[in-house]
Amino acid sequence: MFWIRIKYRLGLFYKTVLFKLGFGKILLKNRYGERLLLFHGIDTKGDTRYNSRFISKLFFEALIKHIVTHYNVVSLDDYYLKKFKKDTLNIALTFDDGYLNNYTYAVPILEKYKVPACFYITTVHENTPYLWTDFIDLVSYYTKKEKVVFKGDLYEKNAKNEFICHGVSLKNVAKRMPYKSIKLIYKIFENDWKNLPPKHHETYWRLMNAEQIRYIANHPLFTIGAHGETHASLIDIPLEAAKHEISNSKKQLETICRQPITEFAFPFGFYNHEIANYCEEIGFERLLLVDYNTKEDTKKQAFKNRFVMNPYLSFELQLAYLLKGSYF
Ligand SMILES: [Zn+2]
Repeated sequence: MFWIRIKYRLGLFYKTVLFKLGFGKILLKNRYGERLLLFHGIDTKGDTRYNSRFISKLFFEALIKHIVTHYNVVSLDDYYLKKFKKDTLNIALTFDDGYLNNYTYAVPILEKYKVPACFYITTVHENTPYLWTDFIDLVSYYTKKEKVVFKGDLYEKNAKNEFICHGVSLKNVAKRMPYKSIKLIYKIFENDWKNLPPKHHETYWRLMNAEQIRYIANHPLFTIGAHGETHASLIDIPLEAAKHEISNSKKQLETICRQPITEFAFPFGFYNHEIANYCEEIGFERLLLVDYNTKEDTKKQAFKNRFVMNPYLSFELQLAYLLKGSYF
């Protein structure tokens, strides 16, 4: 989600100044709103060295405490039914990717405050219990390699620890490839990955196992949805491969959870109408986005956009943006 990271950073300075000048006070007045929050990982420190997807468990608990105290927190069912209160923010929570840290850190906090949430799981890892996106982030940060060759192209490491070829990062190139090509990247960095200190990093990359997913599925506060099989960008791979990703993730989760899976969150938030129609055809009733592609899409019953939590912000500023409903 590199592009999101850049977007968040742009203008942050001005927003901080405005907030200090009193802009925050205007935003913090009670106002009506509907917000579907999107979290990824929760860790001990909210480390942003590797990517923009992790917030700390302390930040998370403070946020949950705040929204439970000041706003109306609802389940996704009620969010879709628009069972909202006036003059306040109506908030529902979602988590993408299926990190073990969701189970370890987020679930106990959500249970403590009785907050409902939905978890969208990436299902298959073929004996690699991590996402390729995290693999690239972590291994690029730690490897001593300065250059790598992938599919005949030379990638050089830049100051931000990304491997770049013709101005495009290896991660963004991989995003547009089927999983069998991505697996070649595992090969390139095989030894570097082996040498990563696992204890320190497990919080970042380990995904939930079947038993943990089932615990969440059977919990009265929580639901499970699908998020693709390998976290491929569904609009960038052949349509048949995308369909395979969608239907397989549904089948695999139904086998694990022993219940119908009817919610789908698009990996990277990327979708088009062919993909969305296919999801509906095979039984997905709710389709979770990041941003709507078009104004027309805002009218579609199944679609809901989401507000991505930003680990670069202070607590106050995150709350101000939450009230505002956008980062721009
Ligand atoms: Zn994701």
